[in-house]
Amino acid sequence: MREEASTQVRLAARPTGTPDARTWQLTQASPPTPGEGQVLVRNEYISVDPAMRGWIGATPTYTSPVEVGDVMRARAAGRVVASRDPSLPEGTSVVGFLGVQSHALARRDQVRVVDASAVPLIYQLSALGAPGMTAYFGLLEVGGCRPGETVVVSAAAGAVGQMVVQIALIMGCRVIGIAGGASKCDFVQRRLGATACIDYKADNVAAQMRAACPYGIDVYFDNVGGDILNDALAQIGLGARIVVCGAVSQYDNLGAVQGPGNYLNLLMQRASLRGMLVGDFEAKFPVAIAAMSRWMAQSRLDCQHHCVDGIENFPDALQQLFAGRNVGKVIVRVR
Ligand code: NAP
Repeated sequence: MREEASTQVRLAARPTGTPDARTWQLTQASPPTPGEGQVLVRNEYISVDPAMRGWIGATPTYTSPVEVGDVMRARAAGRVVASRDPSLPEGTSVVGFLGVQSHALARRDQVRVVDASAVPLIYQLSALGAPGMTAYFGLLEVGGCRPGETVVVSAAAGAVGQMVVQIALIMGCRVIGIAGGASKCDFVQRRLGATACIDYKADNVAAQMRAACPYGIDVYFDNVGGDILNDALAQIGLGARIVVCGAVSQYDNLGAVQGPGNYLNLLMQRASLRGMLVGDFEAKFPVAIAAMSRWMAQSRLDCQHHCVDGIENFPDALQQLFAGRNVGKVIVRVR
């Protein structure tokens, strides 16, 4: 039988603006052989995340940059196909930072074992993975949302946003989404059940926020930064909490990030603005995973996936994210 080749996407050059084809190099090799205490994982799904834009810049963010020539960093989910660790036998499903590649070597402490018979493996990178955990802890711990409150979330049709909308509804909140385009807003309202959704590409966001949140915003879950954050600041209510989860509108602009002119409203409204990193909540993930799994079993929570087939299409998948061509969690399906 012919041995399957392994494929990798490597960082070829640091981008100056939006990453494009010149940023990446596709390489092939024979799959590596696990050494003592290692396993070989065949990746099935690779997570494509806005944070990748920061990882390939020259400046360290909350983690070190990916080096030019290295396999691109990514969370991935797959199965063990060769093992020299008895605690991870062949067939075990695992997730971890396994990279944009078809095969990865890993040790026990670099992966988390998951039960793919209970929940399909792809969900380990979405609802039960970083996007789901970010939404859960961002909204409930950092945002401290309470029943009856008004929650506004940007990039509401995206991976994190769709989870925030649904969890806030489960908590008994009024939920207003913000998304780019009529069909995304339709998804946020009809499929996810948000009270309203503002199309920031067509609507006057500030006016629509005033109309949708007449008593003020209690929690603003910010995924985009820029003008939308500034408009939300103008509409916060007394004691509001702003969760700084991300600022995707600014990631190509890291040298000259746009700050919010309306920040003094934090003072008037005795409000808070707090950043969060999902990794800080890792010790509590089992609590969130149990809650999210229960809600999924009760059909109160679901996750839309935006799948792109083939590792060679990773560059395009990343571009789709920044161009807003995705509805739901962007995943590369490894062929
Ligand atoms: P996503 O929402 O699935 O995809 C990104 C979305 O951002 C796009 O679909 C697009 O939606 C929107 N967007 C792109 N460019 C924009 C712009 N210039 N202005 C406004 N919106 C723009 O991505 P995700 O994985 O769920 O991540 C969402 C945010 O959460 C990101 O900022 C990410 O960095 C952050 N995040 C943070 C943590 C943490 O630990 N803090 C963890 C995970 C993710 P529209 O078409 O609606 O514009």
